[in-house]
Amino acid sequence: MKSKIVELVCKCGFHLFKYRKTGSGTLIKCFRDNIIESNIEIDEVELLAKIVCPNCEKEIGYWNRIRGKIAIKLNNGTVEKIKIK
Ligand SMILES: [Zn+2]
Repeated sequence: MKSKIVELVCKCGFHLFKYRKTGSGTLIKCFRDNIIESNIEIDEVELLAKIVCPNCEKEIGYWNRIRGKIAIKLNNGTVEKIKIK
């Protein structure tokens, strides 16, 4: 499947992580396995724990399990997505 790298940036400008996105459509969840170069804690996570921006402390989403995989469910409108390639 074709994939592209997307950079997720908080509204405050903090670079959260890069993500290898597959398929088309809006990015509403990020599987942990596809997160690269993260500036937030992704190794030790708790399901349903909120994820906040380390810079402005705004909530950007929460950890969830989607189809058996750990993933971030993004809050709507709190994160900018920049397409890299
Ligand atoms: Zn922020």
